[in-house]
Amino acid sequence: MEIYGAAMLKMKPTCERCSAPLALADEAYICSFECTYCPQCAEQLARSCPNCQGQLVMRPTRTRSPTEVPSHRFKAKLEKLLS
Ligand SMILES: [Zn+2]
Ligand SMILES: [Zn+2]
Repeated sequence: MEIYGAAMLKMKPTCERCSAPLALADEAYICSFECTYCPQCAEQLARSCPNCQGQLVMRPTRTRSPTEVPSHRFKAKLEKLLS
């Protein structure tokens, strides 16, 4: 079963539940059948897809630089620790 094959993974632009727009770089959650949810809905659904009862996982985001987001988050964490 090729669930996460690159060609198979469609990047849906809106949340399945509340129709909130989801940019490719935004945080979003998908189930194994590619139902897509915004982080708020994923939280409210307890990370469980109401359509197929599948587990919702964070969708891989596409940023300009692969290191941009993680390093920014790491920096923020570090600053918090050091303050
Ligand atoms: Zn939503
Ligand atoms: Zn689903």
